Amino acid sequence: MLVVMDAHATNEQVRSVCARIESAGMKAHPIPGSNRTAIGITGNTGAVDIGAIEAMPGVIECIPVSKPYKLVSRDVKAEDTVIRIVAPAGTVQIGGGAVAIIAGPCAVESREQALMIAGHVAKSGAKLFRGGAYKPRTSPYAFQGLGEEGLKILAEVRDKFGLGIVTEAVDNESLDLVEKYADVIQIGARNMQNFSLLKRAGRAKKPVLLKRGLSATLDEFLMAAEYVMSEGNYEVILCERGVRTFNDYSRNTLDLTVVPAVKTRSHLPIVVDPSHATGKRHKVLPLSRAAVAVGADGILVEVHHDPDHALSDGMQSILPDEFVQLMEEVRQIAAVVHRRTN
Ligand code: PEP
Ligand code: MN
Repeated sequence: MLVVMDAHATNEQVRSVCARIESAGMKAHPIPGSNRTAIGITGNTGAVDIGAIEAMPGVIECIPVSKPYKLVSRDVKAEDTVIRIVAPAGTVQIGGGAVAIIAGPCAVESREQALMIAGHVAKSGAKLFRGGAYKPRTSPYAFQGLGEEGLKILAEVRDKFGLGIVTEAVDNESLDLVEKYADVIQIGARNMQNFSLLKRAGRAKKPVLLKRGLSATLDEFLMAAEYVMSEGNYEVILCERGVRTFNDYSRNTLDLTVVPAVKTRSHLPIVVDPSHATGKRHKVLPLSRAAVAVGADGILVEVHHDPDHALSDGMQSILPDEFVQLMEEVRQIAAVVHRRTN
């Protein structure tokens, strides 16, 4: 259910409606728009007393939201959500015409490795650095990440180069630590339906980058975002990273059609990860171009200065020089579709 407030409704009237909703055991989510505020109602297992709410001062009408996802839906918020990440080097916007570039290694392997790659990323003009301190690996014997030590290295990257940090949390304990050190909390593809982790991310005070599960439908993807938002964290960035198909020539199949499909259904920004989608270095640049052309709000790519010796995902990591070229081409393509990179 969505309560549409009058354009001239006062903050006090919005607060009273929220209080009324919460006193009936439901959760109220005020969503300010450019013209007026709407209030999403979740947790309503029974019928909502529409008449009582519609009679309150400042309320125009209550409209039922028929989609299974509510807060994620464009029905609830017509304009694009813009996520602002305040990095020491400047604020980065994701969504609403701004295309963000997030780059760095798959994993933080050592201080030297992270600082070396971060130096290249910063020099190329990107402002957001990625790198896993916690790695969800298919094999329990593969490198699992440096844990908190890796987060401390990322904090040093932030201080030294001014880059905002995007890094993954794999469980509730690591999320506590990631929230402390990072600017954006990544939830990986394998955890897209880890509902307790999604709820914990929903209580975090940092934006969440939510990757699409390996076989998730669009509804399942949006419902995962709904989990985060239903707990009160409205800063969700969706990330398409390829899904499993019968394709046997790349690691996954990059589903670029999901970008315009998300745009019609949701106000949330969506970025594309061509590295995990393809698994091959030479495919990263062409698919980055395509992602921006199709309307993605950002690109997340793996970059490594010595990919042959990387502890994870070396084959799909591009070299620093290739990243320079990617930044330039993506900037040019963004301009053609009336967007700007930042
Ligand atoms: C990653 O970004 O390094 C990662 C593990 O990605 P995904 O969850 O998409 O596999
Ligand atoms: Mn990786």
